[in-house]
Amino acid sequence: MATLLKCKMVVLGCNPSFFSTTSQRLSQSFKLVVVGGGAGGCSVAAKFASVLPKNNVAIIEPSDTHYYQPMWTMIGGGMKKLEQSGRPMSQVLPKNAHWIKERASQFFPEENRLVTASGEEIKYEYLVVAMGLQLDYNKIKGLPEAFNTPGVCSNYSPKYVEKTLESLKNFKGGNAIFTFPNTPIKCAGAPQKAMYISEEYLRKHNKRDKANVIFNTSLGVLFGVKKYADALEKVVRERNIAVNFRHELLEVKPDTKEAVFRLLDDPAGNTKTFKYEMLHVTPPMSAPDLLKANKKLTNEAGYLEVDKSTLQHIRFPNIFGIGDCTNLPTSKTAAAIAGQNKIVYDNLKLQMEGKKPSQKYDGYTSCPLVTGYSKCILAEFDYDGQPLETLPINQAKERNTSFFMKKEIMPVLYWKLMLNGWWNGPGVIRKILHLGTGR
Ligand SMILES: Cc1cc2nc3c(=O)[nH]c(=O)nc-3n(C[C@H](O)[C@H](O)[C@H](O)COP(=O)(O)OP(=O)(O)OC[C@H]3O[C@@H](n4cnc5c(N)ncnc54)[C@H](O)[C@@H]3O)c2cc1C
Repeated sequence: MATLLKCKMVVLGCNPSFFSTTSQRLSQSFKLVVVGGGAGGCSVAAKFASVLPKNNVAIIEPSDTHYYQPMWTMIGGGMKKLEQSGRPMSQVLPKNAHWIKERASQFFPEENRLVTASGEEIKYEYLVVAMGLQLDYNKIKGLPEAFNTPGVCSNYSPKYVEKTLESLKNFKGGNAIFTFPNTPIKCAGAPQKAMYISEEYLRKHNKRDKANVIFNTSLGVLFGVKKYADALEKVVRERNIAVNFRHELLEVKPDTKEAVFRLLDDPAGNTKTFKYEMLHVTPPMSAPDLLKANKKLTNEAGYLEVDKSTLQHIRFPNIFGIGDCTNLPTSKTAAAIAGQNKIVYDNLKLQMEGKKPSQKYDGYTSCPLVTGYSKCILAEFDYDGQPLETLPINQAKERNTSFFMKKEIMPVLYWKLMLNGWWNGPGVIRKILHLGTGR
């Protein structure tokens, strides 16, 4: 109760139609409320918590653990342990901010308030929405039950990521299938990273000649940026990986170890069934249901609708968005968030001062395309799909140095700098290394 009072708690009159006679409806007000304490929410909250007075910033986040999700690729391949990817949320969220350990359950943007799952009302002057993406495993028939059977795994969830290594260890022979769904996903390179690491694992453990490594993707290309797609085509060719474009996973039948795919370019809508020994599933993903339910905040697909340059909401000027839950037309990654958090900070600060947001995000994003246990292609690009590489070398080449950065340097950047609000992406480094080239 003492903490609540410190946070300007207001106890409103009890509304008998909603609350029992003994309960009271609580209401708290903050200058800035951030919904979601993941990569985006935590980094933006840290920036504001360091300049605003204590407890002017509140973060609404229900989870006990904050995960560095990019590490899951390495965990699936046995290069890191699951424990290394998670830290207690209490240690990660900024100390100067007030943590509301709850789920937001309803937004009322015209009234500058929201309600949490327990029915508490949270009022704000400014709001940052950073709720990430929802994993829709249940949209695939037979999942998630099939995860309880051998060979079915997914690097996209802490629940299933350790099964990837287990499936590789138990692999006897047959098809090792890696899927890519027919929706936007976070880190669009991650399904292939899982495959390249697995392929190398099978080679190292003398099982490769018994394995057909297959990439069944809903997309029509390996990667959205031609420079990196060309490099990846070379990798799949050299490593004898079969790529089937426009194949969408519909159903998993664990009893017969079969996976059913819709042939997206087939006008008759036919399906094709593949036997599997190992099946790595990248699930369909979408905006969180809570956002989808609020048409005032979102576009047709349910993503928070912000201006792609300023990251300010297009209808509510006191609301900003960051990260995977937004409609930003760039690849959804933590690296993109590093490029977005300073823009949100600068523009929201201008808005608080009664000025017009003027900082512009260029769509910077990055995907370290790990191609095995020691090599990586370091894709970096902008809204136009133009490479925006930090180093003055060809980053489309598979390199040990890029791998070392992905495996050892990036986690430190994330935990130590980004979550504390001190890492705004490599833009400054790029400008220094590319002096005179205008990049
Ligand atoms: C396997 C894998 C590999 C990846 N590899 C890379 C990589 O190499 N490089 C890279 O840059 N990125 C990578 N990513 C992507 C990166 O992890 C995400 O893009 C990033 O975490 C998104 O940050 P976010 O803040 O938007 O969402 P998240 O970090 O997912 O955080 C969203 C938060 O919102 C909270 N939330 C949701 N609903 C509510 C609610 N109703 N109320 C309150 N809180 C709520 C959640 O609990 C969560 O903590 C990878 C991701 C995966 C899964």
